[in-house]
Amino acid sequence: GLVEVGELKDTTGKATVPAIKAGSLEVRDLDMAYGELQVLKQIRLKVEPGTVTCVIGPSGSGKSTLLRCLNRLVEPKAGDVLLDGESILAIKPETLRRRVGMVFQHFNLFPNHTAIENVMLALTRIKGMAGSQARRIAEARLAEVGLAARSDYRPSRLSGGQQQRVAIARALAMDPEVILFDEVTSALDPELVKGVLNLMADLGRRGMTMIVVTHEMGFARKVADQVAFMDEGRIVEVGPPAEIFDRPKSPRLKQFLAEVL
Ligand code: ADP
Ligand code: MG
Repeated sequence: GLVEVGELKDTTGKATVPAIKAGSLEVRDLDMAYGELQVLKQIRLKVEPGTVTCVIGPSGSGKSTLLRCLNRLVEPKAGDVLLDGESILAIKPETLRRRVGMVFQHFNLFPNHTAIENVMLALTRIKGMAGSQARRIAEARLAEVGLAARSDYRPSRLSGGQQQRVAIARALAMDPEVILFDEVTSALDPELVKGVLNLMADLGRRGMTMIVVTHEMGFARKVADQVAFMDEGRIVEVGPPAEIFDRPKSPRLKQFLAEVL
């Protein structure tokens, strides 16, 4: 079911950050192919409300495709995904994308709009919200990611890390039940990675349901409730970080860890 958690109060007692709606996801025997190429094979995964799931694995193993199935950017060939117990195939893709947010490696911000406009546009265009209300929410969300002072900057005047925070604020503004992160720090200069990872860890602590595809093994070990290792379209192993990193069972995971750690 849906759990409302994580409302933060400022010192005056006013709620400054909206409560997080934490949804659950269950992937059931998902198959996906691009033409003849079978990319996901019998994927099963349970994501409890308010937990962080990290997905690791070599390039080409199907991590991005899995995320794309979860908000129907691509359609599976077989199987199902339940969002709070409801099949996502029964949810209109536009509605689903409000409920399951996504943040990409390349931030996909509108270059000719300021930070706050980028967040507002999601609300006015997708949610049909009035401008004044959208502005209030966008301000709160930018403050939440530490960018209150940069709200009138265009993306070109922001660092990569700040642009990624705007993209996260934009995802949060939709009030999603789940947020998917696809290698969101891979394009950042090394010195900017930590700030974005800290923000994501913070969201996880506040109870956001998150699925995070990442190469940051330190983040996965520290922040994840469960880690799923993918290889050649399958989830080969899934478990708590201590098991995945310290007691890997399959030869493929052992080999992968030997290469990346
Ligand atoms: P990962 O995110 O783990 O690197 P992807 O999900 O991007 O893996 O890709 C899985 C496989 O699907 C790869 O073999 C890739 O080449 C292929 N693939 C990804 N996107 C497409 C596409 N749009 N059309 C055809 N093949 C694709
Ligand atoms: Mg990918």
